[in-house]
Amino acid sequence: MKKKINIAIDGYSSTGKSTIAKKLAESLGYVYVDTGAMYRAVTYFAVKNHIISKDFFKKEELISKLNQIDLKFIFNKDLGHAEIYLNGKNVEENIRNLEISNLVSRIAEVSEVRRKLVEQQQKIGKDKGVVMDGRDIGTVVFPDAELKIFMTASAEKRAQRRYKEMIGKGESVNLEEVIKNVTERDRIDTNRKDSPLIMAEDAVLLDNSDLSADETFEKAMELVAEKI
Ligand code: C5P
Repeated sequence: MKKKINIAIDGYSSTGKSTIAKKLAESLGYVYVDTGAMYRAVTYFAVKNHIISKDFFKKEELISKLNQIDLKFIFNKDLGHAEIYLNGKNVEENIRNLEISNLVSRIAEVSEVRRKLVEQQQKIGKDKGVVMDGRDIGTVVFPDAELKIFMTASAEKRAQRRYKEMIGKGESVNLEEVIKNVTERDRIDTNRKDSPLIMAEDAVLLDNSDLSADETFEKAMELVAEKI
C-alpha cells in the first residue's frame, strides 16, 4: 500500500488549480478540498446579510456573525467530488459569479475569517490523503505537506480560461470585466497582511501558460510519483 500524503496546490487565480487538484484526487482516491469555495461561501453569506456590497463592508458585523456560518463539503457521487454547503444549503451555483468574485478577496483579508477556515481545513487534512487548492495551503494550512505545487500562467491565458468557463455556465460577462477581476484579486491576494499569496520555499513551480489541461495533469502526476 502506497503511503498517503497531503498535496498543497497554490497559485494565482484561474491557473487551473482546481481542475488539476480534482483530477489528482480522483486518480489517487484522495479527498479534494476547494478552499476558494469556502471563502466564496462566506462572501455569499455576507452579501445575503447586507454585510458587504461594492459600496460598503461592515467588517465588525461579519466578525460577530462568523459563528452563524457553518460550512460543509458533501460528496456528490454523480460529479465525483464534494460540493460546498452553507448552513445546510448547497451553494455551488451561487458562489462563482462575478459579484462574488469581485468581493471575495476583501473577505479573505479578514484574519478572523482566515483563522476559522484554516482551522477547518487543517482538521480535514489531519489524516492525510487530501489534495487542497488555494492561496496559503503550502505556507499556512499545511506547511509540512509532502508535495507543494505553485501554479502560474500568463495573465492573458488565465483571463481567457476564466472567461470561457463563465460563458460556458451561461453568465453574461465580457472579457474586460474578467481580466479586471483576475488582476485585482491577484493584487489583493499577494499584498494582504495575513497569509499573502506567495510561493512556499519548498514548492515546485508549474507554469502552464503553454500546456493543455492533460499536459499539466501529467506533470503534476510525475511530481506525485516522486513522493509516494
Ligand atoms: O480559488 P478561488 O479563485 O475560487 O478563490 C477565491 C478567492 O478566495 C481568492 O481570490 C482569494 O481571495 C481567496 N482565497 C484565499 N485563500 C485560499 C483560497 C482562496 O484567500 N486558501
